[in-house]
Amino acid sequence: MKEITILSGKGGTGKTSITAAIASVAQNAVFCDNDVDAADLHLILQPKIREEHTFLSAWIATINDEECTNCEVCKDYCRFDAIHDNAEGNLEINPFQCEGCRLCERVCPVQAISSERSSNNFWYVSETRLGILVHAKMGPGEENSGKLVTQVRKRSKELAKEKSAQFIINDGPPGIGCATISSITGTDKILLVIEPSKSGLHDAERLVELIHSFKIPVFALINKYDINSEVALEIETYLKNNNIPLLGRIPFDKKMVEAMIDNQTIVEYNPDSEIAKTIKEICNTLTS
Ligand code: SF4
Ligand code: SF4
Repeated sequence: MKEITILSGKGGTGKTSITAAIASVAQNAVFCDNDVDAADLHLILQPKIREEHTFLSAWIATINDEECTNCEVCKDYCRFDAIHDNAEGNLEINPFQCEGCRLCERVCPVQAISSERSSNNFWYVSETRLGILVHAKMGPGEENSGKLVTQVRKRSKELAKEKSAQFIINDGPPGIGCATISSITGTDKILLVIEPSKSGLHDAERLVELIHSFKIPVFALINKYDINSEVALEIETYLKNNNIPLLGRIPFDKKMVEAMIDNQTIVEYNPDSEIAKTIKEICNTLTS
């Protein structure tokens, strides 16, 4: 069983439409949405949820004002500078700075600090018309997306084994953060979706540096290549210089948008189109 992960250096490259299109061609595969911060593969695949699980995120500490004596021991110990005086002259913990190490809880002489884990994140196993999809939903402002990606990937591997699937196709997150690192780790092949803009090229370069450190074979696709042919050529030169095979160039086509509005992949919506043909060729190369 092989894992293929589809990534883009930035959002808005059309990565999910491409992933969904590949999903509609791939045979005997399990699909996994690793873009847990902004999951949207389910919008096209229209899943029927079969399993729902809560994902507990990192610990967040809070101070009980009734118990606190304002000794400031916790403030001195917090390495993340998360404990501050508030307007009422009490100490409080900024949840956006707290890293959940729980040290303050241990050093408080009067046990005025307690920690809780948020249960505002969920992950699912669903059935779709194209096969099984493992996906997730993070609550607003929640962190720890890397661990949630690891969780959904773990479940998709179990399911792929159970179903004797040959492939797992991951829709990866954009950028080069924790979630992307969790998405890259241990995958067998990566398809990089690049849009022809200066920022698209720059972000792809940063992502390729990251991928190279994992020594995973990487392939590329230029999406909407004809909206800026000059930069598309620059991208081709960059790929050539870095020995990254270019598997296809996909033109801008409003049928891609129409397909999305219709909750279909381009291969389903317009199976005889050039784009559908290119997607099939790309899928064959990635799965061979
Ligand atoms: S260590 Fe405990 S008692 Fe001291 S300031 Fe912090 S919360 Fe309050
Ligand atoms: S849990 Fe750790 S990071 Fe959060 S406030 Fe306490 S010491 Fe600071």
